Amino acid sequence: MEDKKGFTTTILHSDRLLKPEFGALHQPVHTSVTWGFDDVQGLVNVFQNKAKGYAYSRQGNPTTTALEHKITQMEQGKSTVTFSTGMAAITATIQSLIKAGDHIIASSYLFGNSRSIMQTFMDLGLSFSFVDATSADNIKAAFQENTRMVFVETIANPATQIADLTAIGDFCAEKGLLYVVDNTMTSPYLFRPATVKASLVINSLTKYIGGHGDALGGSVTDTGNFDWTTFPNIAAILREQIKPEMLGITQIRKRGLRDGGGTLSPEAAHTISLGSETLALRLEKACYNANKLANYLENHDMVSKVYYPGLKSHPQHQLAADLFKLNGGLMSFSLKDGIDCFAFLNRLKLVVKSSNLGDTRTLAIPVAHTIFFELGAVRRAEMGIPDSMVRLSVGIEDTEDLIADFSQALEASK
Ligand SMILES: *Cc1c(COP(=O)(O)O)cnc(C)c1O
Repeated sequence: MEDKKGFTTTILHSDRLLKPEFGALHQPVHTSVTWGFDDVQGLVNVFQNKAKGYAYSRQGNPTTTALEHKITQMEQGKSTVTFSTGMAAITATIQSLIKAGDHIIASSYLFGNSRSIMQTFMDLGLSFSFVDATSADNIKAAFQENTRMVFVETIANPATQIADLTAIGDFCAEKGLLYVVDNTMTSPYLFRPATVKASLVINSLTKYIGGHGDALGGSVTDTGNFDWTTFPNIAAILREQIKPEMLGITQIRKRGLRDGGGTLSPEAAHTISLGSETLALRLEKACYNANKLANYLENHDMVSKVYYPGLKSHPQHQLAADLFKLNGGLMSFSLKDGIDCFAFLNRLKLVVKSSNLGDTRTLAIPVAHTIFFELGAVRRAEMGIPDSMVRLSVGIEDTEDLIADFSQALEASK
């Protein structure tokens, strides 16, 4: 590996240093589905994991490999596999590493579709405990002899609860549990889960890493922290062929990506790769805007509550300061009783009513009626989600323009 450079320098020069043809600065978009070999032994060697190379691009191609290399460097991990979406990455990770009879402990504040796929896995016979991950004690209390994996997010969406990441990592290390951290909300620029002993890191590349709302993608990175030789669910055939530190990621690539088929297209990999060059610059501005906006909203008499880790009023404000470089671009707020949340949202002129997050543009969505609608009123109340809650993914617009848009929409709601 190259000597260590800063975050952005490393991403900008990553493709070039892999030496694509003619001195290109970007890895080309390789659209070939398959590769030809002059000597059939070459094809056989790729199949038998004896040589690096490509046979069929469901398992990867040079364009996705270049992006995987970038993400590995961002996370300072060992190896990365990319997928068509973040959900494909999460599904493949569980599917490829967990067996019937195993138990998983997961945060009760998960991204809605992650919670939903875990319900599907429960219907298939896996067992799960969902606990409040803001305290590692709840994880410890849910531990069973058959627990294999702990799955948490860094900052939860929409209410921004922060998992007790360091203490959970210590517990997982002590018990030999796979510790999977979904880093989507922070991205490797704000936080590296490897530093709290995470085994695997999930990123939805659709969000901050791609960053422009123009390509879907997901990834799983092995941090190198986990000892796969002790993990009982690794296939015997892989143990014979693969170096111990590559066992986990290889099983995810084969059973999760190759067999599951959620492959990232080379065109999307290229788009995400370009977006990732400005990850640090975009996040600096988005976090700056989010902080300004959170303080503005918290002091506004039409707003009843703001959920943002950068505010002193946030229950894990100090934890966020200890763990993350900045407090992120995601926040939520609820309006004072009697204010019509839809009418307020419709008055916003600049802010887009949309469900994505991590875009360059500021996006707003009413939570109870959309992303948490399927949960029903009882589960929403348990999760602390009021009907007037609005989630904001703060973009990189000029700060004054954002404040002005919220200001006119709130004044007109009086
Ligand atoms: C969006 C998101 C996902 C899923 O990613 P997709 O690329 O949309 O499939 C997973 N986890 C978190 C925390 C997310 O915000």
